[in-house]
Amino acid sequence: MKIENHLLVPSSGSQVSHQLTNKTSGQFRDSLPDTVVIHFTAGRDAKSSIQTLTDPNVPASAHLVIGRDNSITQLVPFNTVAWHAGKSSWADRSGLNAYSIGIEIDNAGRLDKQGEEYLSWFKKSYAAVEVFQGIHRNESVASYWHRYTPEQIEIVEQIVRLLCETYGIKLILGHEEISPDRKIDPGPAFPLDKLRNNILYANRQQDDPAAFDPAGQTTDYPTATVTAYQLNVRSKPSANSDLVIEPLTKGEMVQILETKGKWSKVKSCKRAG
Ligand SMILES: [Zn+2]
Repeated sequence: MKIENHLLVPSSGSQVSHQLTNKTSGQFRDSLPDTVVIHFTAGRDAKSSIQTLTDPNVPASAHLVIGRDNSITQLVPFNTVAWHAGKSSWADRSGLNAYSIGIEIDNAGRLDKQGEEYLSWFKKSYAAVEVFQGIHRNESVASYWHRYTPEQIEIVEQIVRLLCETYGIKLILGHEEISPDRKIDPGPAFPLDKLRNNILYANRQQDDPAAFDPAGQTTDYPTATVTAYQLNVRSKPSANSDLVIEPLTKGEMVQILETKGKWSKVKSCKRAG
């Protein structure tokens, strides 16, 4: 894939199409966009979400919709402001539409377990293999979520890399981070921290002395098993510091090198990226 005139151009093997909508606020200001915002559609399928996002009576749009069949549909050129973020803020900015490209991924969102069934808000039932159990970054208890397909995650990473090269993207954010009071997308089933690390922080990690030493585990330290559904591993004992590897998941083994208060320095065989 490549970008020409602010539109995605397909390469062989990719399914790119365009259904441009005029639900926009015109062109971005100079040196923008510099941010990507990731969303789930919370819809039944890509087709119905595209219909909604191009419906002149619905005040919402986005740049891209990524289907579960690997289809990529562009609705708004990348140099044009779309309506995906709504009331939102990040650092000293508010109204993130004016700064960002919005990528919608076809995914039903949070699921409700009823007996053996996992139901979306629109009452469609999903098989257990399609269900991800995890704790949302803005919550403290695990719940059920519709899984993204590995191909969707890969396509999003490919496109965000392309956007970084073309527009100098500096921030990759989830809607749940810029509108935490009212939004839960893309949710814990989407590897947002990993995407950020892979694309924005890949080089920084290698210089970090606290990052994983690839020489391998030794038996000099006690081992422990992760009991949380997801455990973030950070470069320093602070919730604001960078994630150094993909979060550990329940049942994974780590070595405890040192413990201070609530924090432990651990060694894991999991590699960055
Ligand atoms: Zn959203």
